[in-house]
Amino acid sequence: MRHYTCLIDGEDVPAEGGRFAMCCPSDGKPFATVARGGKPEIDLAVAAARRALEHGAYGEMTATERGRVLSRMAEAVRDRHSALTELEAMDCGKPTRQAATDITCLARYLEFYSGAADKVHGPQIPFLKGWLVTGIREPHGVTAHIIPWNYPAQIFGRSVGAAIAMGNACVLKPAEDAGLSCLEVARMALDCGLPPGALNVVTGMGEEAGAALAAHPDIDFISFTGSPEVGTLIQKAAAERTIGCTLELGGKSAQLVFADADFDAALPIIANAIIQNAGQTCSAGSRVLIERSVFAAVTAELAERFRALRVGPHDRDLDLGPLINRQQEARIERFVELASDLELLAEGSCIPDLPVGGCYTKPRLYGPVPPDHPLAQEEVFGPILAAIPFECEAEAIAIANGTAYGLVAGVWTRDGARQLRVARRLEAGQVFVNGYGAGGGIELPFGGVKRSGHGREKGFEALYEFSQLKTIAINHG
Ligand code: ADP
Repeated sequence: MRHYTCLIDGEDVPAEGGRFAMCCPSDGKPFATVARGGKPEIDLAVAAARRALEHGAYGEMTATERGRVLSRMAEAVRDRHSALTELEAMDCGKPTRQAATDITCLARYLEFYSGAADKVHGPQIPFLKGWLVTGIREPHGVTAHIIPWNYPAQIFGRSVGAAIAMGNACVLKPAEDAGLSCLEVARMALDCGLPPGALNVVTGMGEEAGAALAAHPDIDFISFTGSPEVGTLIQKAAAERTIGCTLELGGKSAQLVFADADFDAALPIIANAIIQNAGQTCSAGSRVLIERSVFAAVTAELAERFRALRVGPHDRDLDLGPLINRQQEARIERFVELASDLELLAEGSCIPDLPVGGCYTKPRLYGPVPPDHPLAQEEVFGPILAAIPFECEAEAIAIANGTAYGLVAGVWTRDGARQLRVARRLEAGQVFVNGYGAGGGIELPFGGVKRSGHGREKGFEALYEFSQLKTIAINHG
């Protein structure tokens, strides 16, 4: 069994709080331990990050040099692709193919931000006669990264990759349920030339290490991905010190299927968007809104797909793996109970020889679901798809926008004018037309509106989030 410590200032640091076990969601068995970091380790990590910026080699690096380090990290991840895939699959309980995609995405994030690091240019602004005004993009300083258990490798890549590209020194707090890939890659980064202290990782509980990090007086920015409840705490902690934060929270994302859609193209993607990572995905397409005239036909075909889905441990590499833990299982059971008044159109099946100790749930398709039903309003974070009929475009938009969330949306129609009209009216940070797949889009700015959060991660936009513009106005006469 591997024992991981915190990584602070390039050193392995055990935590005063001891250790706790990391269990594989497939069978509940411990396979590693991590440090139970808390305030003492967070204090050390933030101090190390500050030193790296102000007195260490890191603060002296040019953008090009940081880009080269990120490029070497991308290569190192590719070289260790299969080992990292195995670790991510076991840690998160993901089917191996899905974990492999995550590691590929991690390498792509690092590659993208390696190339972007020295291509962020500030403006030159016309002003009064005799003045030259320019803007330079500066890093925030020490950035805190608090990330969840569902996509640790990918979220590490998009968040830490962009922050380092801009020259921030990072303190990362992975989730208590999964995040070993972050520890591995942070250690690999040292061999790729990232100076000690530029990236520190403190594992631990949310209320201990996470809260200590969010409340630390010497951090300059917080990047948070997780639940709306904790996101609100993070924003309050940031407000206490008037620092900025990006919050990528949950979603109740809808895919709108009009009668003229290409169903053959749409249906596999609609099914995949809710079963990926057993539905434990912020951008899961958890509602499918279907024009009434084709509702029966589309749900019948979707039902057929759901019945073919199989659930099993990560190493069987089926359609769905286990849920991450018992709390998730209880949460999903509550929604299944709430759905007892609805018609269950189809469900998948678990393989017969499931390991004891894992938490498994079958993917389920319900419909027609009234738009105000909890299944159509609340984030389940599990493989449950609510099918909702609509009469016309205006009603489809109203239903799609009629939740507290606004992360991603999908529109399926062959009508070009409608594609743009609907996309513009949907309240979401990302809208896909005749497609859906926030996970894979390294280059695509991603984030929410309303209760899904604010700020944008991914793509070039994240570089602006992880920096601030300084305006320099020179009176040269
Ligand atoms: P999820 O529902 O996906 O578990 P959470 O919002 O609970 O999402 O967790 C996301 C991240 O936030 C994890 O790293 C977790 O440890 C951390 N976290 C949880 N509670 C707090 C808190 N009170 N302060 C700071 N971080 C927290």
